[in-house]
Amino acid sequence: MGPSTMTPNISTIVEESRLAAAAMVEYAGGLAHPTVRLGVTGLTRAGKTVFMTALVHNLLHGGRLPVFEALNSGRIARATLKPQPDDAVPRFDYEGHLRALVDERRWPESTRHLSELRLVIDYQSESARRRTLTLDIIDYPGEWLLDLPLLAKSYAEWSAETLALSRQEPRAALAEAWHAHLATVQPDDPEDEQAALKAARLFTDYLKACRDERYAMSLLPPGRFLMPGDLAGSPALTFSPLDLPRDNRAGAGPGSLWAMMKRRYDAYRHVVVRPFFRDHFARLDRQIVLVDALAAFNAGPAALRDLEGALVAILGCFRAGRRSWLSNMFRPRIDRILFAATKADHLHHVNHDRLERILGRMTERAIAQAEFAGASIDVVALAAVRATREAMVARGRDRLPSILGIPLAGEFAGRETFDGETEAAMFPGDLPDNPEALFCRAGGAFKGLTTADARETDYRFLRFRPPLPDVDASGRPHLPHIRLDRALQFLLGDRLA
Ligand code: GDP
Repeated sequence: MGPSTMTPNISTIVEESRLAAAAMVEYAGGLAHPTVRLGVTGLTRAGKTVFMTALVHNLLHGGRLPVFEALNSGRIARATLKPQPDDAVPRFDYEGHLRALVDERRWPESTRHLSELRLVIDYQSESARRRTLTLDIIDYPGEWLLDLPLLAKSYAEWSAETLALSRQEPRAALAEAWHAHLATVQPDDPEDEQAALKAARLFTDYLKACRDERYAMSLLPPGRFLMPGDLAGSPALTFSPLDLPRDNRAGAGPGSLWAMMKRRYDAYRHVVVRPFFRDHFARLDRQIVLVDALAAFNAGPAALRDLEGALVAILGCFRAGRRSWLSNMFRPRIDRILFAATKADHLHHVNHDRLERILGRMTERAIAQAEFAGASIDVVALAAVRATREAMVARGRDRLPSILGIPLAGEFAGRETFDGETEAAMFPGDLPDNPEALFCRAGGAFKGLTTADARETDYRFLRFRPPLPDVDASGRPHLPHIRLDRALQFLLGDRLA
């Protein structure tokens, strides 16, 4: 059945009433204590943990955020951490992550599952009234958002699409071992746990290889195969696409490998995907989507196209529920979405606006669709924690706008391997002024160059150690950032007016 012909059944009607009741309770609660539920998402290593830690630290300790008007004008009296509302959701380990960043000067452990933190902000409104805003911040893997389209796809449709995509370059070369295994099984073979385990393992290896920074692919559902959360090893994750049975139907009946895979795919949709959207996503009010655009630039045009596809799919989630078949299941109420290109501190400031323009170009198509749904959308290039400084560095007769930082131990450029203690200057190169230029360029265009002979194969930007925080006159540590205040103003400014 296609999405447009889907009609509500008893279970969706029951779910509707449950949702309506939950919405009433939240609405009534919201009137008494205004609350914003802010979602922080992005694909693996986009910078969610670092962003959320920096955001909370800046709010708790009154960071240097000139564009965040409520704080800059002194209207925020205090922000404090409070017990979170959802008992079944892990707490975001703010204290542990901050210790890693500030005391140990290492990057914290990345997001692996959904977590949450509650802050209560006491402030003075613009009309000088004392007010309180409760801010619940929910951090979750962006991979899980890309699962939404699976709800509308049968196992046969999903299998066919996933296999067709895996036969295109650069994916095909990474799928060889998995394809070789698929050639040894028939969908109408009897169901077999070992064959399913092997197919699922090789399929997962293929997804992981696509995600590797050399390829930096983004569209890699099912999301839990890469980010299993607490479901690692469960049967709902032990399936793989199969080629259609030879005659498309007969022989793949009960007891076949096909039927077993289909059952598990359906379980994944109903037990994993659906509850995530219904219980978590649908309750968000604001959303920031972090994007490691620099990683995609380095991997080349195929990665950029894939990232663009992922952005379209992500925006599809925010559109869902407004006059669509999904409104039977959940209604997103998000009214502001910020797309943020992270790690802008890898570029000299003259390139920050260019980075923003490129992200804008990539989300343009997706934004056009989402504006239809009424949410306001903005784009920013930021560094939640700025690990570099800027300097003009002489090279021969030229003076190049460069960045200075301490590369992580083991990072290398050319023949030089860094020890994690020594500062290095790097000329990151310029992003093109015209975003279109990037889409037809080969990979590796913007390499980190610390030495004259940096190798062509060095496709990565150098990774730097977190910075030493500045300490102000009252002894408070400030984490440097780039444009974090712009992000906060867009996401929360109107709620603190
Ligand atoms: P997550 O998987 O989305 O939670 O990603 P993390 O927040 O753990 O970030 C992944 C990695 O990206 C970190 O370990 C850092 O190396 C790097 N990173 C994230 N944010 C920044 C930033 O603002 N500046 C710099 N220089 N690196 C960052």
